[in-house]
Amino acid sequence: MAEPCIITVAITGSLPTKANNPAVPISVAEQIESTQAAFEAGATLAHCHVRDDEGKPTSDPERFGRLLEGLRKHCPGMIVQFSTGGRSGRGEERGGMLPLRPDMASLSTGSVNFPTRIYENSPDLVDWLAGLMLEHGVKPEIEVFDLSMLFKAVEMEKAGQIRGPLHVQFVMGVKNAMPVDREVFEFYVKTVRRLAPDATWTGAGIGRNQITVVRWSLELGGHCRTGLEDNVRLDKATLAPSNAALVEQVVALCPKYGRRPATVAEARALLGLPAQA
Ligand code: ZN
Repeated sequence: MAEPCIITVAITGSLPTKANNPAVPISVAEQIESTQAAFEAGATLAHCHVRDDEGKPTSDPERFGRLLEGLRKHCPGMIVQFSTGGRSGRGEERGGMLPLRPDMASLSTGSVNFPTRIYENSPDLVDWLAGLMLEHGVKPEIEVFDLSMLFKAVEMEKAGQIRGPLHVQFVMGVKNAMPVDREVFEFYVKTVRRLAPDATWTGAGIGRNQITVVRWSLELGGHCRTGLEDNVRLDKATLAPSNAALVEQVVALCPKYGRRPATVAEARALLGLPAQA
């Protein structure tokens, strides 16, 4: 029996523009349409950023609210995850949408260098975001850019700052952070199994090695992430035509590794989320 795989689609991100790829959904209406197509292709988790009228990243709760409402309507049961990433706001602005109670939100448990800046997550901010997620019943997805962030998440779970079981995402391929490296990836998987045996995990490869990390995740029993957010710097010739096309690529790989896309009900059960949004 093939093991279910939760396919995350990172629909927009904070960097890609229409100039990078006209398929990147920017307005809320475009985001809903693009997510619905990805959902119908087999994605069960939508990782979402929002943009303002000029296409710039924002943490505006009103935008997030409209997106959440549209996704609940057009993608029934899909897990909605909001990004609390650093390009859309400063400090506590980054958590302003958590009272909307999405199913999940991203939580980076440490700082790291990005291509042109520091992705800053001070201990105080990490604690504050985690506290707000706990208060509003939002499950964090721990963004692991290096090993210390995994240890920090396990420590926070033990301290009651994060409600378990943990869900972690290993992010590789961001310039100046951890590259796509098989031995490190295997060590991440081994370490999460040792420290948090009940945790679930996803592999996220940013850029041209995305599909490599998808293959490794399918092979080693993890879940997968794809989407236009992660493919901003590719050449025009290799640009994906849509979020749905990227999801289809993952779905097509599943059988080679004895896997199949999870249903919405399976994805929710695997992550310990309520059956209904
Ligand atoms: Zn993101």
